[in-house]
Amino acid sequence: MKAVLDHVGIAVRDLSAALAFYRDALGLHVEAPEEVAAQRVRAHFIPVGESALELLEATADDSAVARYIEKRGPGIHHITLRVDDIQAALAQLKARHTRLIDEAPRPGAEGALVAFIHPSSAHGVLVELKQRASSSTAHAAVAAPAVTRFQLGELELISLHDGFLRVDGGGLFGIVPKTRWASVASPDERNRVTLPMRPLVVRGRRTMIIDAGLGDKSDDAFKDTFAVDRTTNLDHTLAAAGLTPNDIDIVLATHLHFDHAGGFTVRDADGRLRPRFPRARYVVRRGEFDDATHPHARSRSSYIADDFVPLKDAGVLELVDDDQTIMPGVKVQHTGGHTQHHQVIWIESNGQHALYAADSMPTSMHVLDAWIAGFDLYPVQSLAAKQRLLKDIVERHALVFFDHDLAVAAARIEEHGGKRRVVPV
Ligand SMILES: [Zn+2]
Ligand SMILES: [Zn+2]
Repeated sequence: MKAVLDHVGIAVRDLSAALAFYRDALGLHVEAPEEVAAQRVRAHFIPVGESALELLEATADDSAVARYIEKRGPGIHHITLRVDDIQAALAQLKARHTRLIDEAPRPGAEGALVAFIHPSSAHGVLVELKQRASSSTAHAAVAAPAVTRFQLGELELISLHDGFLRVDGGGLFGIVPKTRWASVASPDERNRVTLPMRPLVVRGRRTMIIDAGLGDKSDDAFKDTFAVDRTTNLDHTLAAAGLTPNDIDIVLATHLHFDHAGGFTVRDADGRLRPRFPRARYVVRRGEFDDATHPHARSRSSYIADDFVPLKDAGVLELVDDDQTIMPGVKVQHTGGHTQHHQVIWIESNGQHALYAADSMPTSMHVLDAWIAGFDLYPVQSLAAKQRLLKDIVERHALVFFDHDLAVAAARIEEHGGKRRVVPV
């Protein structure tokens, strides 16, 4: 296996003393800290060339880092080797009977997948393997748990998957410098990063699907531009969830971009376009439909009329004007920002809340204020909407679904001292 040194983790007892050395005496740049809630640790990254040092500060007495310091004192805690394909690396180690702490990869910081090897197999060193989010082989690792079920009060939420596409990294991360986002999502040779498409099914007395991915109408030029990979797609994941297109009563659109509405229609053998969900009514915000059918130079490339005009022709389109309840427990809320009429979906049952954030926060990195997609038509509106949403998310302890995050389908978000942390569920 090919591996590069990603970083060295250093357990720190007294952070200000450690900063006095690493930051002040050595003169190294220390990045803003990141909370890793699951491990009850705060990580301070210090880039050193291609690699980094990671100062680890325990945030609770029962944190593994706190226990480590208690036992062995502060010092080197682990080394992290970055690999292209973590599944393959783990398989290779298992074949050689290596003792693993993690048999399967789990989500780490910044959307990466990580797994630890036991020190007893690594000559006294705790070794972490890491695969960056959006590396070209990350598909295989996340394609497996493509269907995830959650119970929210009396509603069942099922996160599905319609494959992957790649978009320009600058388009996805906006004004965030490439040197920063490239450490989270490594771009391919055409500067593209990989995004999954994750529609969400809500099952109560009726069955709804929120967005429907890209669908299968794309031509070869489109597939090449966006590196479309639908090896595992909505048909597979619907089936894995025990559903067929016939079971869907309501299709709800957050907006009509092709990676959300492409799956709304299919082309028959005779070339005719028809609704993909034969029994469903399709609910779309009126302003979004108007904008999608009258695009301008900046919005044109994101809308494909074949995705939504046939719904109107078939008489299954229902246009709504305001924020309202679409089925019991499911409400739409206008955000704008990404498009003028972009909306998010709040789901509530028995006092429990969930949010389908759609492209207001496409990945878990977009929880940070400045991480706003360059694709957004009204980025300052995106910022205001996101800040309002995050306040409600934290207050309601809501489960948040990210439509384009490679590793994190759903998470809770906690806020302490003005800092947000994403806790994958
Ligand atoms: Zn969009
Ligand atoms: Zn999107």
